[in-house]
Amino acid sequence: MKYISTRGGISPISFSQAVMMGLASDGGLLLPKFLPRADNAQVSKWKDLDYQSLALEIISLFSGDIQKDTLEDLIRRSYFTFDSKEVTPLVKKGELFILELFHGPTLAFKDVALQLLGNLFSLLLKEQGSYMNILGATSGDTGSAAIYGVRGKENINIFILHPHRRVSRMQALQMTTVPDRNCFNLAIEGTFDDCQAIVKAIFNDLDFKDRYRLGAINSINWARVLAQVVYYVYASLRLYDQGYERICFSVPTGNFGDIFAGYVAKALIEPLIYRLILATNENNILTRFVREGVYEKGQVVQTISPSMDIQIASNFERYLYYLLGQDAGRVKRAMAEFEREGVLRFSQEEIQRARQDFSSFSITQEETVSTIGSFFRETGYVCDPHTAVGLAAARRFMAEQGKEVQGMPVVCLATAHPCKFPEAVEKATGRSPEVPEKVRGLDRLPQRYEVMPADVEKVKAYIEAHAL
Ligand SMILES: *Cc1c(COP(=O)(O)O)cnc(C)c1O
Repeated sequence: MKYISTRGGISPISFSQAVMMGLASDGGLLLPKFLPRADNAQVSKWKDLDYQSLALEIISLFSGDIQKDTLEDLIRRSYFTFDSKEVTPLVKKGELFILELFHGPTLAFKDVALQLLGNLFSLLLKEQGSYMNILGATSGDTGSAAIYGVRGKENINIFILHPHRRVSRMQALQMTTVPDRNCFNLAIEGTFDDCQAIVKAIFNDLDFKDRYRLGAINSINWARVLAQVVYYVYASLRLYDQGYERICFSVPTGNFGDIFAGYVAKALIEPLIYRLILATNENNILTRFVREGVYEKGQVVQTISPSMDIQIASNFERYLYYLLGQDAGRVKRAMAEFEREGVLRFSQEEIQRARQDFSSFSITQEETVSTIGSFFRETGYVCDPHTAVGLAAARRFMAEQGKEVQGMPVVCLATAHPCKFPEAVEKATGRSPEVPEKVRGLDRLPQRYEVMPADVEKVKAYIEAHAL
């Protein structure tokens, strides 16, 4: 499989090159040259496979230049760190199915992608006799998942900036208690925006970036999307095995990464996935796109589902490429227009097409809390606020579509363990969520972090002193 840019400015590259490139060098996003589709024979064979074997089949469709046995070993190691044999178990609660994506080391769905990406980076760097210094900013969750993805890897150092005293206690502990010498936490005296601005400024210093082989680990890396395709197919095949032939997924969405993986899965096992429910919190740029045909930036609102408090969905450009008929010239013009005007408008025909793929609902914080509470009272299941946004959207979808989707299973993606967001859960259910063994007692471990002013030069000096 070769990879191209949504903006058409690069000649086709291999999977390995795409993983190492991250963002396409013309400013676009990388995509496979075509979206593969499985035939009936493949689907029947896949439905008996365990998660890791299915992952191997799916990922090898996209990763031609990595040997299959190397890939197999890499996948086994990536999901060995999960505390469920099924990796992403599917459970039925009330009328809904829940796909639990939080069994990885940091209890959030980002582990599914970042455990694999860390191992991929390490493998490709080793093959090239090279190394990398990863630099990123986090408002909480991505940082710890990234650190756990690369901890202990000898050809990678990682520097994660977080706003000092502005991430939750558990989030801070998850990052700072990792003992591996290749992990560096910088607690910046400022906000998350300050952290992001520093990271951006350092990446813009091309000389510095090249000298220290700086790499990013953000959600636009193709390998992250690809790793996530697997659980959509896995859940669909579990249900197919139970006799269901049309399935819907409800996806709590921020950067459009997870739901774009659903779109790739939908194409891969057509017609098994009927519809993707795009669930947003009050930051609803994507809901307005699906419902009104207008993609327009708004103000970021802080909510109780903070990992979805995003106004520009960085993976949206990938979907745009397909919506605009795989015409890279049009994507390039559209993105330039969005940059200039902050808004994109779509034709009736395009909106209709998007609505074949997605139904969308924006869920208020009040409804999120009441959903955690009512779902707990009805089923005994405790979910986190991000998952609850998806649950509420799934219920609205069923009410809106009525007969059209009657009897069709709706799978809600559970993207974080409820113990990561204890305040909201306690408010809704009247009790604090259970804390799994592996994160108990983190506060008794030694912490490693450096408090630092929000100063680009100071951060650069720190990297210089500790980089590979
Ligand atoms: C990152 C995240 C999301 C949003 O995922 P996207 O790929 O950005 O759409 C949802 N829930 C949780 C808990 C997350 O950490």
